[in-house]
Amino acid sequence: MKNFGPFDSYTDALLAACPLLLSKPHATVGHLRDSNPELAHRTATEYCAWLYYTPEHKYEMSMLSDRPKPDDLVTGKKSCLLPTFVDDSRYAPGELKYIFALHNHPFGTPLSSIDYHFIEEMANHHDWEVETTKGRIRLSIIAFFSHSKSPGAPTCDGFYQYIPATREVMMWVQTQGRWKKTKHESLRWLDDRTYRFERIQ
Ligand SMILES: [Zn+2]
Repeated sequence: MKNFGPFDSYTDALLAACPLLLSKPHATVGHLRDSNPELAHRTATEYCAWLYYTPEHKYEMSMLSDRPKPDDLVTGKKSCLLPTFVDDSRYAPGELKYIFALHNHPFGTPLSSIDYHFIEEMANHHDWEVETTKGRIRLSIIAFFSHSKSPGAPTCDGFYQYIPATREVMMWVQTQGRWKKTKHESLRWLDDRTYRFERIQ
């Protein structure tokens, strides 16, 4: 299966990945939330992939997965199982640097405690920070969202991001090919399941 890329910058990669993920079947179901919530919940599908940095100083996206997590059957949640490592036979293990765990949120909701725990767990396997030719990039999880009311033409409206190294939670919106940060908070765990946000000035 073909990977997606390569891209010269991660911003370009995100601009391409966002509409790609959101245009997959049932990747955005906000338009059904009011008219048919049962159908929205039943069909909502999350897709996920790694954005990684290659020894050629390019950004590439792994093949998309829509494999549900085993827990989903019990919890009724719809999440996507992202493998810890990318299968890219061109490179030896350890040559690829993992930067963003990408996925979509079909209802456009913020990141969940599952998302926070997942990327913190990934930080046990991958570098917290990757050195690139254009500076350092920190490992993070990203969830794209669309506010589109038209399922045939989902717009890429933005994404939520969490960086375990700094505990920063951000919201970015997209207008005319540019990302703009509209929310910036810091996550503080109170215990394993509960957390609160503190505003970053
Ligand atoms: Zn998520």
